Amino acid sequence: MSTQTLEHAIMGGATGLEFEMGGERIHVDNKRIINCRADLNQLVPFKYKWAWQKYLDACANHWMPNEINMSADIALWKDPHGLTEDERIIIKRNLGFFSTADSLVANNLVLAVYRHITNPECRQYLLRQAFEEALHTHAYQHVIESLSMDEAEVFNMYREIPSVAKKAAWSIPYTRSLGDRNFHTGTPENDRRLLRDLIAFYVIFEGIFFYVGFTQILSMGRRNKMTGTAEQFQYILRDESMHLNFGIDVINQIKIENPHLWTEDFKQEAIHMIHEGVNLEYDYAVDTMPRGILGMNAEMFKEYLQFIANRRCAQIGLPLQFPGANNPFPWMSEIMDLKKEKNFFETRVTEYQTGGTLSWDE
Ligand code: FE
Repeated sequence: MSTQTLEHAIMGGATGLEFEMGGERIHVDNKRIINCRADLNQLVPFKYKWAWQKYLDACANHWMPNEINMSADIALWKDPHGLTEDERIIIKRNLGFFSTADSLVANNLVLAVYRHITNPECRQYLLRQAFEEALHTHAYQHVIESLSMDEAEVFNMYREIPSVAKKAAWSIPYTRSLGDRNFHTGTPENDRRLLRDLIAFYVIFEGIFFYVGFTQILSMGRRNKMTGTAEQFQYILRDESMHLNFGIDVINQIKIENPHLWTEDFKQEAIHMIHEGVNLEYDYAVDTMPRGILGMNAEMFKEYLQFIANRRCAQIGLPLQFPGANNPFPWMSEIMDLKKEKNFFETRVTEYQTGGTLSWDE
């Protein structure tokens, strides 16, 4: 057994750090999402065109948090009669949750998931996603700083406020086992651990845990309150829906390539995780909205979360858990389908050139 083969046998798949002069050329058929033995430094030939397309689409959606005008938010936040106490709680709690949540997602991607996804076009998207997670954390920081909030209070909420802390605490075990340096895919048990992490972070963390907060902030924006913050969240939501769709495509492709992983027991486990996610997110809705506000209340969120959970189940091939659940916030889907040419709040249009000319200083 050559050193390289031995390394592959131990590692489960290639990492991209191995190199062999004059080695064999890549064929599309050699490509696999996990446990691939082929050279990971060659992007083409493409096998998973959906991953490359999502990378291109994400780049076409580029935006920067500091381009969004925060002056109306600053004036409203400072005005002692500008917002009710309940509205302030919503802003604070959501900044508390999201300011650390996107860092958790980024750390999971870069330190846990990336190493085990053995496909260059998927990694290309993961690199873009990692940058977007950085932009999101930047966006929350930009809002917190603009509103002169107590940074220590906001950034510590994910450890100090139970409904926020419980969501973070739920996710940590999934990423921790994968980030372990001694963890390698290549056995059914370990491949399922990776799949479990992908379900935890893409389907539940980004796919369920973000939705009460997004809906609350965007609802505020629709009522012309905290429009800069809402616009930041709107751009983030657009990125997040693509993260979610990418994660679902990856999960489904792993299932196709490794049908033995998708056992009845594992499906039950995934269903259980989705139920836990719905319950934790509902607790968060109750905690952030002790009373009805902005035309919403915690009960409406119960149905909304059930509606979302049904969609997540359908997306990864699980039976619907809450038949008949409806969407009480149909306007959310309009916001998600937003085209970049038309801004929901009509404050400004952000359009990036993809082929601009560079001017060189002599
Ligand atoms: Fe994300």
